[in-house]
Amino acid sequence: ADNLTRRLPAGNNQDELSQMVACLNQMLDRLEKSFRRIRQFSGDASHELRTPLTILRGETEVTLRWAKTTDEFRDMLRSNMEEIDRMERIIESLLTLAKSEVGELTLEMKQLSLSDMVQELYLQSRILCEAKQIKVEMDLKVEQEVRIRGDELRLRQMFLNLISNAIKYTPDGGELKIVLAQEDDLAVVDIVDSGIGMHAEHLAHIFDRFYRVDKARNRMDGGTGLGLAIVKWIAEAHGGSISVTSEVGKGSSFSVRLPIQGPEEGKHPKTTILD
Ligand code: ADP
Repeated sequence: ADNLTRRLPAGNNQDELSQMVACLNQMLDRLEKSFRRIRQFSGDASHELRTPLTILRGETEVTLRWAKTTDEFRDMLRSNMEEIDRMERIIESLLTLAKSEVGELTLEMKQLSLSDMVQELYLQSRILCEAKQIKVEMDLKVEQEVRIRGDELRLRQMFLNLISNAIKYTPDGGELKIVLAQEDDLAVVDIVDSGIGMHAEHLAHIFDRFYRVDKARNRMDGGTGLGLAIVKWIAEAHGGSISVTSEVGKGSSFSVRLPIQGPEEGKHPKTTILD
């Protein structure tokens, strides 16, 4: 685990020994990559948790030393509460992701109306958008009700994550659109915003844990960088996928594709599916 950089010298003919060397080297590549990912992940997780802890400690120390009035103590407790909230959110999301990796999260499948869910999300979005005066639009590009097999709570969590991102990264007075369509046996939901958008180089990474385009701005918005990792897990656990297109200054469009029949049996060994 300490040194995974060394490789066996590759043979230059096609005999069995050279094939085995190539195979071992490829395995070492994969091991090296996955060890690096784990190290990076624990580093990021500790860093993300240390920041609110440092703030908590700093504020508490200063207050204990200087504060005299009840109001001053109350201010500190209020500010501490924000950091505690933040840590709670990070830990909860990390726990969800960790459980999803070892198959400890279950999806409770049932037949549900995606059309109804999209309409409820539209009404909820209108309330969420009020403060920023973002205009919400719904486009049902289907002739009849779309019913799918899925976990209602998880699907709702996935869409709300995408919607709250759309609102978070769209300036006041912008637009948000929720589109439902069907392509053969796939249901497609698009969450489209007219927000700040992202450069192409970020798009491959935004579904990684803790990846944030603008770390400084994001901390103030209360982002953890874990939302999209969870969104991706939920889409894939349903046998579906998520994709994104974006243009800086114009907006972003996240597209979720879900098989109407739900995930295929045995295809996602890490998810326990209850019917
Ligand atoms: P966060 O909690 O930081 O929003 P996410 O995992 O949900 O974490 O998103 C990862 C990053 O992707 C965000 O920090 C942001 O930079 C970018 N992002 C996500 N959604 C959008 C969007 N609709 N418009 C612009 N940028 C976005």
